[in-house]
Amino acid sequence: MRTFQAPKGTYDLLPPDSARYLAVREALALPARRAGYGYVETPGFEEVELFARGVGESTDVVTKEMYAFTTKGGDELALRPEGTASVLRAALEANLHKAGNLPVKLWYSGSYYRYERPQKGRYRHFSQVGAEAIGAEDPHLDAELVILADDGFRSLGLRDYRLLLNSLGDRKCRPAYRELLQEFLRALDLDEATRDRIEINPLRVLDDKRESVQKQLTGAPMMRDHLCQECRDYHERVRELLTIAEIPFEDDPKLVRGLDYYTRTTFEFVHDGLGAQSALGGGGRYDGLSEMIGGPELPSVGWALGVDRTVLALDEEDVRLDLAPPVQVYAVPLGEEARRALFSVVTELRRAGVTADFAFGGKGLKNAMKSANRSGARFALVAGERDLAENVAQLKDLESGEQAPVALDEVVSRLRSRLTLTTVREAQ
Ligand code: AMP
Repeated sequence: MRTFQAPKGTYDLLPPDSARYLAVREALALPARRAGYGYVETPGFEEVELFARGVGESTDVVTKEMYAFTTKGGDELALRPEGTASVLRAALEANLHKAGNLPVKLWYSGSYYRYERPQKGRYRHFSQVGAEAIGAEDPHLDAELVILADDGFRSLGLRDYRLLLNSLGDRKCRPAYRELLQEFLRALDLDEATRDRIEINPLRVLDDKRESVQKQLTGAPMMRDHLCQECRDYHERVRELLTIAEIPFEDDPKLVRGLDYYTRTTFEFVHDGLGAQSALGGGGRYDGLSEMIGGPELPSVGWALGVDRTVLALDEEDVRLDLAPPVQVYAVPLGEEARRALFSVVTELRRAGVTADFAFGGKGLKNAMKSANRSGARFALVAGERDLAENVAQLKDLESGEQAPVALDEVVSRLRSRLTLTTVREAQ
């Protein structure tokens, strides 16, 4: 019989490693939740047209990397390659922007799909945590988002990452700069695909990672030297706010990012230990996106942080997360009657908030104790016929090896207090 493997460019998350992924997702989202961002969940697929318009028809994400398909009903859909266009579509569709409370602040967490060439840190199915603030133009909001992302990475214990910052100007100052850049780029020795890019989205040529291209970009006009006064003031304010918040950043005049919709503030968090796929996350302001997908003018700003790469970065820095063991108590019943009694105790423990597991399958003492040790539980609760006759179970501290009988009807309260005590003591 043939067996099956996860599709190319994907991987499964399994215990015990999956616990770290969950913890990373939670940690990255927590700062945004603390800042009043509400949870949003959108479908895993949308109309192709939404991404074509929203992400940009000339971007690699749309032209090469989208999982697009025609449904049996004839709809042109695509698995979502990113979150912003969908979130904005959802907010517009539900008229959240009309509720009179701008900005609408939303966070999300989920799977995204890009048909990319797989390599370390680049997958066809990956996971992002994102945050978007829709409908306000205020440098404090740009700064808030950058600070929240930084707080997320820092709370996990990451240190060796850098924040790159740039401004892409707005619809007032960018067109003139764009032409200037096009003129400069047209005079270079570039391949045909890159020449085409000059005409469609010249800023993205600046982001070309190839040495042969980068070499020729010396002396290219930079957006930061051509910002209008408003954009310059706005950017200065964002920089100032980040400095006050003690967020170190580097000005990177070539940072344009892969998606078309950005205006003004753009930023990216990069980790130097990750090799070619160094971006941990990024985002920026996208003042024109709402109109591009048929909405009103709604200046907005947001980010998406890569969960997979954050986990890789933690490995790279050897950061161990302080994760609670899957269970605190492991019950080892010996004999049928003990199974019945301890099964009830385990149910009670769980209802009382103590995490607990049970030796299923009628294991013998030796095997069951092995499972108890492997489970990571602090305590084993062992009971045989003789214990039951006395209405007790043996409570064994798996760390110290100490063991003492506890009355069955006191197990829950005893464990609750011992586990709290341990936590308090460990925290000191
Ligand atoms: P982007 O929208 O491309 O800026 O993506 C935001 C973040 O998602 C990146 O900084 C990465 O951390 C992560 N990311 C994007 N594409 C992939 C991928 N193919 N595999 C893993 N992570 C990704």
